[in-house]
This record gives sequence, structure tokens and C-alpha cells, in this order.
Amino acid sequence: MSDLAELRRKAAGCTACELYADATQTVFGAGPPGASTVLVGEQPGDREDIAGEPFVGPAGRVLDRALERAGVARTDVYVTNVVKHFRFRREDRHGGKGTIRIHRTPGVEHVRACLPWLHAELAAVGPQLLVTLGATAAKALLGMSFRLTQHRGEVLAYAELPLVATIHPSAVLRGPKDRQAEMFDELVADLELAGRTLSGLGRGG
Ligand code: SF4
Repeated sequence: MSDLAELRRKAAGCTACELYADATQTVFGAGPPGASTVLVGEQPGDREDIAGEPFVGPAGRVLDRALERAGVARTDVYVTNVVKHFRFRREDRHGGKGTIRIHRTPGVEHVRACLPWLHAELAAVGPQLLVTLGATAAKALLGMSFRLTQHRGEVLAYAELPLVATIHPSAVLRGPKDRQAEMFDELVADLELAGRTLSGLGRGG
């Protein structure tokens, strides 16, 4: 399974864990085949679940701004998630106006079930650099004992590829108001580190 289009088609019918049952659709990765950098997030959110594309909601807009500030074109990177279906719980809206879907962090069992899709994507894209966004993606690739707070600003390694672990863009949105600008700057600094690392390998973009 080396072709991305074929992988996407097969993942659309995945039932390897229960998350497919309540979500709208599989949200597979997106970006140019052969991209030098793969960004790996946690799972699709509410908007992504409906659109069928990763990072197109509010967190995606934060990511777009951060990539732009870091001088990295979104169209030059492949973006995906460790878990390909949206995990959520329903919550009543005030005034009996139906329900809204609230994000739930995927469990270890969902990550484990879904990892083969990420491994197949990485094999198909063949990047030179990985960037994990948030703790779930970092732990999926670097082990459950990995602590993002201890390894920000470092160039790590996964399967002989350099890896930069940073926060998830949604953390900027959820952060305390007086910390959001600082958190955004930290995200940009990590993406700049990723860009410098890629340049050091002699392959930009
Ligand atoms: S979350 Fe991943 S493993 Fe679970 S059903 Fe969806 S694609 Fe398959």
C-alpha cells in the first residue's frame, strides 16, 4: 500500500475501532505526495469531520497563521492525524436547542488501532522531517513516557527521521487569554526550528 490515493480509499472503509460508527467519515491526511515535511496532529475536529479534510477548522487557521509566520507554505507540507475519526461526546445546548459535539481525547486503544494508517502514509510520502502537534501525536510516535514540556525546542528522532514535537494549535485557542500570544509564538518558534532543521538537511519546502 504505497499509493496515497489508494490508502485514502481503503481508510474510508476502516472499522478497526469503534470511532467510525459515530463520526461522519474518515479524515485522511492531505498534502503533496513527496512532501518533505509531515505534520501529525491528534484527530480531526468537528469541522474536519464534516469537511473530510484535516486542519480546516479553528485550529487549522491557527496552524496556517503559524506556518506563515515561520515561513513554511501549508501547500508544501503533508498534514495528517494519528487518529482518523473524530471522537466526541454530545452535550445538550442551553434552551433545548439540540446538542453540540465536544472533543474527546482518543484513547490508547484508538491510537494503537489507527497507527498502521499513519505508518502507511509516512511510507508513501517519504518525508525528511516530522512535526508532531500535541501530546497524543508525540506519544504515539515517541512512547507514552514522552513529555512535551521536557523536550520542546529539541530535534528528536523517529525511525531515523528528525522530529520536532510542538503543541497542538488548538492548545493556543484553549489557553488562558493572557498566554495565548506567547503560546502562539512558541508554536511558531518550533516550526521555525523544523524549517531550519530541514534546511540543514539540504532540502527546503
Ligand atoms: S479511528 Fe482509525 S482505526 Fe479507528 S475506525 Fe477510524 S480509521 Fe479505523
